[in-house]
Amino acid sequence: GAERAAEIDYVFKVVVIGDSAVGKTQLLSRFTKDEFCFDSKSTIGIEFQTRTIVLNRKRIKAQIWDTAGQERYRAVTSAYYRGALGAMLVYDITKRPTFDHVARWVEELRANADKAIVIMLIGNKSDLAEKRAVSTEDAVEFAEEQGLFFSEASALSGDNVESAFLRLIEEIHGVVS
Ligand code: GDP
Repeated sequence: GAERAAEIDYVFKVVVIGDSAVGKTQLLSRFTKDEFCFDSKSTIGIEFQTRTIVLNRKRIKAQIWDTAGQERYRAVTSAYYRGALGAMLVYDITKRPTFDHVARWVEELRANADKAIVIMLIGNKSDLAEKRAVSTEDAVEFAEEQGLFFSEASALSGDNVESAFLRLIEEIHGVVS
């Protein structure tokens, strides 16, 4: 019946990290609500959002955590990473420093998160191609070196957002099942 259909087989915690203003919150709201909010960043409030998907007849609840601005003060705590099975590591393709800092975020993950964590590198704001400051090739090379999955995406247009999150969830499923 309906009760049974609503049962959840897995809950996967996913953290979204990366420099401030790269689009973490917008990627999360695009994936969980299919929304993009032009005047974003109101209050520090909800710590995570969820979306349930069905994969191989299993109901998987993705519980996706946002830093709620903590990254500005380098105050992302180890509690944030605890229990995370996946990470979306986001940079802005129009802001070179946000890509240069990705290595530091990978170190932070390796130091604080589970060893088996699945990491997806996301080059966000692909809609701003005319302002590109990070080539796709550089990102692909880095991702290969570090064993990360990679996709460019746009929270604004929605391009590749769904596919990137679903890929991450599938990979986590492969690790845990
Ligand atoms: P966060 O600090 O990493 O959570 O970044 P936000 O999600 O708050 O986004 C920072 C800014 O970038 C906001 O002004 C967003 O409207 C804008 N933004 C986020 N994603 C995109 C995108 O895909 N394309 C464009 N053009 N702007 C974006």
